Amino acid sequence: MTNTDLEDLKKILSTPKNIVIVPHKNPDGDAMGASLAMKLFLDKKNHRTTIVTPNDYPEFLKWLPNSHKSYKFDLQNRQSKRAINNADLIFLLDFNALHRVGDDMEKTLEKFEGDFVMIDHHQQPDDLTRFIYSDTEMCSTCQMVYHFIEMMGDKNLLDKDIATCIYTGIMTDTGSFRFRSTTSTTHRVVADLIDLGADNARIHNNVYDTNSYNRLQLLGVALNNLKVVPEFKTAYITLSQKELDKQSFQKGDTEGFVNYALSLKGVIFAVIFIEDIEQGIIKMSLRSKGTFSVNEFARAHFSGGGHTNAAGGRSTISLQETVDKFLNLLPNYKEEISESYED
Ligand code: 5GP
Ligand code: MN
Repeated sequence: MTNTDLEDLKKILSTPKNIVIVPHKNPDGDAMGASLAMKLFLDKKNHRTTIVTPNDYPEFLKWLPNSHKSYKFDLQNRQSKRAINNADLIFLLDFNALHRVGDDMEKTLEKFEGDFVMIDHHQQPDDLTRFIYSDTEMCSTCQMVYHFIEMMGDKNLLDKDIATCIYTGIMTDTGSFRFRSTTSTTHRVVADLIDLGADNARIHNNVYDTNSYNRLQLLGVALNNLKVVPEFKTAYITLSQKELDKQSFQKGDTEGFVNYALSLKGVIFAVIFIEDIEQGIIKMSLRSKGTFSVNEFARAHFSGGGHTNAAGGRSTISLQETVDKFLNLLPNYKEEISESYED
């Protein structure tokens, strides 16, 4: 965003507006944290704000301040469409292309004639609006929301609830401050959030220590299915619909499972394949260490994308066929993978 654009946006936001805030489909901690923080901030600036999530978000985020007030586009379709149609401005948070909200909602957003404001840290953002704050070096959209509030000259409006939402997204997107994207600035921002009242121990507990028994059993199944391909420093996990059903799978239950595959000594490329019979897809989460880009890999072969070291993708062939396709691709990446990361 140029300085002129920023000044224009400040001017737009200087009088009360109807604002809709949209995170990506299957919102994670960063998407929900950023949306809620932005809502709380804009409410304080006297705007009328509505969060419209494409679909539901996991239980472990439902304690976040104000989260129950958001509409889900798939379940509250009429209210969601009305909010979007009445909006003067729509914030798009934690995604880089309109299709990331899913087909139905994308169609509604495409018809919107007002301005979008996109704040995001994913690679290769679509050229959708002049109000784009994109920084692919940032650990999280939540950290960008903090900087956005700073840029607006409104740091004085930060409070405990906003700090709690921002802290949550930074924590979840950095793997609790351990990924390379975690910088000294991230830690300075986090220090400020704690000073503002974000209760770091409670937030961590709410997100990570509220496992259901079924989820841990499902993790057991996933670890049992873990396969290693040493030649390509690769490990992968599969979960079939049958296995998910047996453990009464709930949204969010498989979050983070792929990281167990990546935690194996010597592994630098990890993937989890999750069968979704209802949607007719295999959902993939891809992770890497070092320079090997799972964003490029997912874009090229599995209709996905994301970041260098964390991306998502999908396929419409069967679970076994997807795994076979994946295994057949590995030899093409042998060099890239072996040069990716030094222990
Ligand atoms: P996850 O594996 O946790 O679903 O996603 C990992 C990262 O990649 C997240 O930052 C997520 O937003 C992004 N991502 C997941 N799926 C897609 C996709 O289909 N396209 C793009 N561009 N990014 C994705
Ligand atoms: Mn994010």
